[in-house]
Amino acid sequence: MNTMSKNAYISALQWHLDAGADEALADEPVDATALKALSPRGEGLGEGDIKAMAAGVAVKPPSPNPLPAGEKALLGASDARKESVRLAKEAKTLDELREAIAAFDGLGLKKTATNLVFCDGNPLAPIMLVGEAPGADEDRLGKPFVGVSGQLLDKILACIGIDRAQEDPAQSIYISNILNWRPPGNRTPSPAEADVSLPFIEKHIALIKPKLLIFSGGVSTKALMGTDTNISKLRGLFHEYIPQTKELFDEPHAAIPALATYPPSYLLNTPSQKGLVWQDMLMLQQKRREMGLI
Ligand code: URA
Repeated sequence: MNTMSKNAYISALQWHLDAGADEALADEPVDATALKALSPRGEGLGEGDIKAMAAGVAVKPPSPNPLPAGEKALLGASDARKESVRLAKEAKTLDELREAIAAFDGLGLKKTATNLVFCDGNPLAPIMLVGEAPGADEDRLGKPFVGVSGQLLDKILACIGIDRAQEDPAQSIYISNILNWRPPGNRTPSPAEADVSLPFIEKHIALIKPKLLIFSGGVSTKALMGTDTNISKLRGLFHEYIPQTKELFDEPHAAIPALATYPPSYLLNTPSQKGLVWQDMLMLQQKRREMGLI
């Protein structure tokens, strides 16, 4: 054991947690105290730097190094948005879109996430649900809504006869998120991250061509409706979804009815609101009947 105090180690762990490193993924534990400290670019940090970081003191980053061979620098915000529009526009199939998102270097989240989270469910289903962003379980498994809130979502959908694993499209659903990479520590995506990702999810919707949309939570509702209005005012209503990223499409798009509702993660923390989501699901059933989908 070196001379660092127990509190310094606890602070160092907290620092990693705050940065989003909240999971142990290696098979075997690594004694970091026995390693020669290296900066992410391969340049050594001194032991004094490590102690200062552990004590919460900002450490001047090592002098800029060229990036390792094959690693691209992140794009600036406006270049990133132009590039996401370009890549989304070029993608003609779901596979091409997934590849385009994987190749996109405009979001720092890609560097901290483990897996790209693209979709789950039945691409032929008439209903598509768009959530916010992957959490820890989704990041590990590379699929949306597979953690505790995903299990609650499955239960809610089962009450209205929908199962994402169903082969019959009429009883199934297709699921994705505004962001395809997990924000560190499950923080809410920033408006800039949602903005840069919007062309991808809008192209995703255009390729799936759902008859109905569900916007699960404030982040997806705000991004896809292009509004700042709070989800509490938008839920429980069908809106007309028209793509915000006009430059993505050569022809105007027919509006798709979109139901905004509270996300399952909110219900886990605020179970008293479950009744409102149940009302939303009854509205969805009504709409499915009116549209001849069931
Ligand atoms: N899991 C997801 O994949 N998306 C959400 O919005 C919430 C949980």
